[in-house]
Amino acid sequence: MQPTVAIVGRPNVGKSTLFNRLVGRRLALVDDLPGVTRDRREGEARLADLRFAIVDTAGLEEADSGSLLGRMRAQTEAAIEDADAVLFVIDARTGLLPTDVPFAELVRKSGKPVILLANKAESRTGIANVYDAYELGLGEPIAFSGEHGTGLDELYDQLRELL
Ligand code: GDP
Ligand code: MG
Repeated sequence: MQPTVAIVGRPNVGKSTLFNRLVGRRLALVDDLPGVTRDRREGEARLADLRFAIVDTAGLEEADSGSLLGRMRAQTEAAIEDADAVLFVIDARTGLLPTDVPFAELVRKSGKPVILLANKAESRTGIANVYDAYELGLGEPIAFSGEHGTGLDELYDQLRELL
């Protein structure tokens, strides 16, 4: 079976942009179970010679229930549980925000291997905030840009070690 990688982080850090870059048009399936997994998107990712299933997790814009945070949290938790490795994404332009913390806690608690992506680091502001990510205690961040493709080589190297 193909290994599975989950993209995790608070809304608006660039998870879906990264998902789209890795999947291209090979969108495999959309889970349509009621409740927490409703917004989950899964596809077949390609990165050079690596092939893996990749799962995008919901942002605020995709969720609609009253207990929004509870649902997002449960959905993220389920995606992490099913994954062999996690890509944890933060926004290096804003730096760390309080809302990053509960998502990071879920990843840490799971004990799953994690790759830390300080996204939107294509600009000078972004790069200045990359090292904020150290505070999460999830290891060394990769200065990354899902939109521009910066850091894909490093992502490849780390994924190859894990998958
Ligand atoms: P998600 O909520 O985590 O899935 O984030 P999205 O992928 O929807 O992106 C949120 C916003 O950040 C959008 O306006 C994107 O265009 C923007 N964005 C995503 N990746 C990058 C990046 O690498 N650099 C910059 N500057 N913007 C990005
Ligand atoms: Mg999204």
